[in-house]
Amino acid sequence: MKFQNTYADLGHKFCAHQLPTPVANPRLIKFNDELASDLGVEFLKEEAAQFLSGNQIPEGCEPIAQAYAGHQFGHLNILGDGRAILLGEIETQKGLFDMVLKGAGRTPYSRGGDGRAAIGPVMREYIVSEAMHKFGIPTTRALGFILTGEHIMREEILQGAVLTRIATSHIRVGTFVYFSVHREFGALKQLADYVINRHYPSAQNYAQLLEMICSNQAKLIAKWMSIGFIHGVMNTDNMAISGETIDYGPCAFMDEYNPAQVYSFIDKRGRYQYQNQPTIGAWNLARLAEAFLPLLDENQEKAVEFANEIIAGFQNQYQNQWLFEFALKLGIENPKLEDGDLINRFLAILHEHNLDFTNSFIDLCNNNLPSEIFGDFLYEWENRVDVNKAREIMKKSNPQIIPRNHHIAKAIEAGENGDFSIMGRLIKAYYKPYEFNADYKDLYLPPRETERVENTFCGT
Ligand code: AMP
Ligand code: MG
Repeated sequence: MKFQNTYADLGHKFCAHQLPTPVANPRLIKFNDELASDLGVEFLKEEAAQFLSGNQIPEGCEPIAQAYAGHQFGHLNILGDGRAILLGEIETQKGLFDMVLKGAGRTPYSRGGDGRAAIGPVMREYIVSEAMHKFGIPTTRALGFILTGEHIMREEILQGAVLTRIATSHIRVGTFVYFSVHREFGALKQLADYVINRHYPSAQNYAQLLEMICSNQAKLIAKWMSIGFIHGVMNTDNMAISGETIDYGPCAFMDEYNPAQVYSFIDKRGRYQYQNQPTIGAWNLARLAEAFLPLLDENQEKAVEFANEIIAGFQNQYQNQWLFEFALKLGIENPKLEDGDLINRFLAILHEHNLDFTNSFIDLCNNNLPSEIFGDFLYEWENRVDVNKAREIMKKSNPQIIPRNHHIAKAIEAGENGDFSIMGRLIKAYYKPYEFNADYKDLYLPPRETERVENTFCGT
C-alpha cells in the first residue's frame, strides 16, 4: 500500500498536522475485505486494529485535519475536522483515495468536542454507506470499524469507536467557503486547481468546474430521492465536491411515503426533510457559487451573472434527473415531460394512503397493487407502457430492500451488547438490493407500529 499526501502538501492554510490520539484497547469488529482488495490495501488481521484505530500510522502517511467552514442549518461557522484525521491518500489503479479515521481524537478544530465517535453512529455509517454503494449511488465507503476499548460521554456513557472512511476526497462546499470568508483568494484558486486536477480534469476553466460540481449534485440528489434517502444534515460542510454522499449522521430511509419526512432529532424545523433536499442542494451550491465569484470573472457583475446561470442550470438538471430516475421506477425509459404527472399521481396515492415507498414500486412491478386504490392510475400506466417491458426495467430500477431504520436500530442495540451478527446479516442482505432473496424476506417488511424509529441521532 502506497500513500501520497497531496492535500497536506497544499500547505498550512489548508490543514493542521495532527496525529491520532492512541486508544486503550482497539478491537477490530468489521473489515471490508471487498473494498480492501479493490484498493489494494493489505493488513495482517492482527495489525489492522492498530492501524485502523490510529495507534500505529502506516508508513508514508502525514496525518492531517482539514480546515473548512460550513453553514450548519443555514448559519455559517468555521469548523474543520474536529474528530476525523486524514492519514493520507492511497495510490490505486483508480486514482487516489483518502483514508480517514473518524473518531480518532481531538484536533485544533475540535472546539468543545472530545474528538471521538460512538459505536452506534459508526455502525449506522458503515451499514448505510455500504448499502448506498450497492445501490450504485456515489458515496464514501467504510473500510473498517474498531471499538476503542474506551468509554465516551454523550447523554449516556457509550463505547468509543473509530470508522475508517474511504473517499475520492473530503473536499466540501465548505472548504471553498472557508477560503472565501477569509478572503484568501490565492488559496481559493489553489484549491480549485487541485480539485480540477483530482476530480474534474476535463474542466477547461473555473466556470466549467462549478458547472460540473453542480451537475454531479443534481444527479446525486435525484438518486437519493429515488430510493427515499434522507441525508438529514445537508450542511455545506457535509456536501462533497466530488459528488459522493458524505457524512452519514442522522440519515434514514423513508418507510411510508411522506414528502415532509424528517428523522433527525436535531432537525426540529424540518429544514432537511425529504422534499426539501433539492432546494437545499441549490441553496448550498449558491453558497459555493458565491465563493467561486472571484474565480469566475474579474468583473463582479459578470461573475454574478455566470453564477446565477449555473445555479439555474442545476435546477433544470435536477428536474431532468428526477424525471429520469422516477420514470425508470415506473418502467419508462426516455421519459416525456408529461410522465412527471403520472409519477406525481402515483406518489400522491402513496402519500394519501400512507403506503410504503419501496414496496409500492415492487408491488406495481409484481401486479400486486389494490385496484380499488390504484385503479385510475393503473389504467393510465398500462396505456403509457408496454407492461412486460416496463416490468423488466422496473426490476433493475427498484430495490427490493432498503436499510430500514428499525433494522439498523436493532443491529445497533445488539452491537452495543457485543453481538454484531445482525449488522453482518444486514450488510449481506443489502449486497444485492435489486434481487429478491427469500432469506431476507423479514427485512423487506416495513416496521410494525411498535417497531417504528422516529428519531435518529448523529451522536456528536
Ligand atoms: P457533523 O455534524 O458530523 O458534520 O460535524 C460538524 C462539525 O463538528 C465538524 O467540524 C466535526 O468535525 C465536528 N465534530 C462533531 N463531533 C465531534 C466530536 N465528538 N469532537 C470534536 N468535533 C466534533
Ligand atoms: Mg461533517
